[in-house]
Amino acid sequence: MLADFISSIAPIAQSDRVPGFEPGGYRFKSCSVHVFYSMNDLSPISIFQCTQKSYAEAVAARLGRGKQHAMLLYAKWFQEGTLEGLRETVEPQALKLVDEMVQITDFELPGVGGEKLEGETKKFLLRFSDGLESESVLIPMESGTTLCLSSQVGCRMGCAFCETGRMGLVRHLKREEIVAQVFYARFILGSAVRNIVFMGMGEPFDNYDEVMGAVRILTEAPGLGFGPSRITISTSGRVDGIYRMIEDADPAINLAVSVNAPSDEVRTRIMPVNRKWNMAELKKAMLDYCAHPRREIFAEYVLIQGVNDSLEQADMLADYLRGLRVKVNLIPYNPQSKDRFSPPTDEVRENFLKRMREQGYHTLLRGAKGQKIMAACGQLGNVQLRKSLRQSQS
Ligand code: SF4
Repeated sequence: MLADFISSIAPIAQSDRVPGFEPGGYRFKSCSVHVFYSMNDLSPISIFQCTQKSYAEAVAARLGRGKQHAMLLYAKWFQEGTLEGLRETVEPQALKLVDEMVQITDFELPGVGGEKLEGETKKFLLRFSDGLESESVLIPMESGTTLCLSSQVGCRMGCAFCETGRMGLVRHLKREEIVAQVFYARFILGSAVRNIVFMGMGEPFDNYDEVMGAVRILTEAPGLGFGPSRITISTSGRVDGIYRMIEDADPAINLAVSVNAPSDEVRTRIMPVNRKWNMAELKKAMLDYCAHPRREIFAEYVLIQGVNDSLEQADMLADYLRGLRVKVNLIPYNPQSKDRFSPPTDEVRENFLKRMREQGYHTLLRGAKGQKIMAACGQLGNVQLRKSLRQSQS
């Protein structure tokens, strides 16, 4: 049984789902980490939605024993992406128990929706049983590979410079669908992912519980084991989400805030979220966030020609950020399927960068890796995805 399973580790297409489950059914269950699988519940336990502890408890609830072996199985699965060799580490009298665990566990990944490569930047799509797809991007950086994750299909925040915003919100991703993006990148694509950023499709704070549930699974030491400081959550400026992070998130997890404008007038024009939480409220939340000595903020700023890229606006931005523990990332606008804006010239970018540094800010000008495959910042959720969305709805 275990050997059979090991040979089936490759992602399973939707049509190849394990017999015995409802046709077209989705084998990921939306349990929270705290959900207790009862002995009468015969649905498989999705390993991708569990922490090590909750998986062990779910197994013990179902089989009446096996917590320690379940923890062993969980650690092996998330550390190595396979159960190969597990039998050799288990005492003979426990082999039957481990086989039973495998039988009651769902290890299935979503199907593959496609991959595109530009240089070393790779965009990959995972397709869920409802036909919807997440988009994720692997980006080589000096510090190692960064994986950009989606937290939603589409997004309702409607930022004017963003392709995803044009889709509207289709649905939130479940924590297991977020974790699956990481597992796929690491073990199917074989990428040595070092950093994780929630900067793909979606506003993470719009889907706070599932995003934070996924983060708990990603940071499990005996599992995928990402240090909290290797994870960045990026918000368009949902102030309520910043306060939730202050309350309950590990202070080592990084927060990025899309500031993108030096004034309410400009920000409201390009980011509807500014009508709900204006820049003063956003600044207050960021100040409160930085009250913790370990917390700092990445201020993201998409440079758009003629909108927010003048030196006067750089000075206004510098004034706005004063008092925050902050690093500034300048991101030249990336082309969309239908462009309303243009990126600034190289000279304007360099001048803006220089002025922010003169104002005393640690500032970086980001490149546009993956622009040609619509994988750069603000480009996810492209026309193809919108077409497949329409198909899945028809
Ligand atoms: S920039 Fe982020 S928050 Fe704004 S529309 Fe795009 S995905 Fe949504």
